[in-house]
Amino acid sequence: MKSVALLGATGSIGLQTIDVLRREPEAFELVAVSGGEQLSELAAIAREFRVARIGVISDQHREVLRDLVARDVEIVVGDDGLTSLSRDADIIVNAVLGFAGLPVTLSALSAGKRLALANKESLIAAAPLVDAVRSTPGATLLPIDSEHCAIHQCLASSSAQAGYPDVRRLLLTASGGPFRGWSHDQLRRATKEDALNHPTWSMGAKITIDSSTLMNKGLEVLEASALFGVGVDRVDVVVHPQSIVHSMVEYVDGSVLAQLSRPDMRLPIAYCLGLPERLDHAWGELDFTRALELTFEPPDLDAFPALTLAYEAARLGGAAPAWLSAANEVAVAAFLADRIAWHEIVGVVARVMDGYLPDPLRTLEDLVENDALARHRAHGIVGL
Ligand code: NDP
Ligand code: MG
Repeated sequence: MKSVALLGATGSIGLQTIDVLRREPEAFELVAVSGGEQLSELAAIAREFRVARIGVISDQHREVLRDLVARDVEIVVGDDGLTSLSRDADIIVNAVLGFAGLPVTLSALSAGKRLALANKESLIAAAPLVDAVRSTPGATLLPIDSEHCAIHQCLASSSAQAGYPDVRRLLLTASGGPFRGWSHDQLRRATKEDALNHPTWSMGAKITIDSSTLMNKGLEVLEASALFGVGVDRVDVVVHPQSIVHSMVEYVDGSVLAQLSRPDMRLPIAYCLGLPERLDHAWGELDFTRALELTFEPPDLDAFPALTLAYEAARLGGAAPAWLSAANEVAVAAFLADRIAWHEIVGVVARVMDGYLPDPLRTLEDLVENDALARHRAHGIVGL
């Protein structure tokens, strides 16, 4: 039996993790959870699994939750709370949204835990700091993000030397989002409803908007580079609208290995929980008795400039990826709050990146300052 701490339990990945855990009561014990605003949902999860500890974001949230759970449940608050929960179990699932997930990523790895990481923003912003704690004895970083989970599986046939010299490139697949094939004119009229209508995946609002701008894929290029230790010049993006091939690895002999399944995040979640074993649930089973069409095309870099911005941030290195991700969080929040139009989201990020002040990013304090500065600039642009 392995113990699990699930941070961000009330979100899209959090609830899908709950679904996996519910089916595997003999293999996993949920001991700690955290959430944001949805306190009654958080309390329901805590009661169902009889968790010992819960993390909330403020003292006010603690007061409300106190009346919803058993007296002997410990409630911890804020970043310190997340940090302590991230040292509390054999497996830490980081399903928190955005930069707020940073304490989970850093403390789980520095405590030598298995980190099942959905929260790509923390890894992208803090890549050099994550690298430093990843070598802690016992620490393992496994990606829940479906593309990176696919690559993790496809790399099993690599000799796995540092930098993967037998791999030519990693090929991240992208559905292309709801606006694939739209003209500039159509994109200028894109509504929130259009942008939230993802063709193949059901996800939280922020990542759904990121998928519509292709910023999600840009962030995933940075995520792949940080996870697997290969430069972004060896990470390419291929649009694959069916979301069946979750990503691919091209070896130096021209062989391309791919991982296929129906799009269902419970598969990568279960993979990260179960490794080295596979949990026996056919989350992603494909039906090959029916015709199945898989198509691939290059991304439209002109209509979706977010991808280019992400490659540029990678080449700048240092704190540039942290700026990109922070500015994007602010721009997406402004779009979701009806402050800016869809076609302005990436423009806000580009303007913030134009003012990037090179910083090598050596310490956590550097990172927090850079994140705050990028957010401040982005807030100035969106007027929030
Ligand atoms: P959701 O918005 O659905 O859920 C986010 C979770 O984080 C919720 O539990 C939320 O609490 C909590 N949360 C939000 N803000 C804070 C904060 N400031 N402090 C502490 N907790 C907070 O997001 P998703 O589940 O879609 O995404 C989570 C992460 O996983 C993101 O990094 C995303 O990029 C990544 N990911 C998601 C995929 C998906 O399919 N959804 C696929 C691949 C990656 P509450 O709801 O109670 O307010
Ligand atoms: Mg993904």
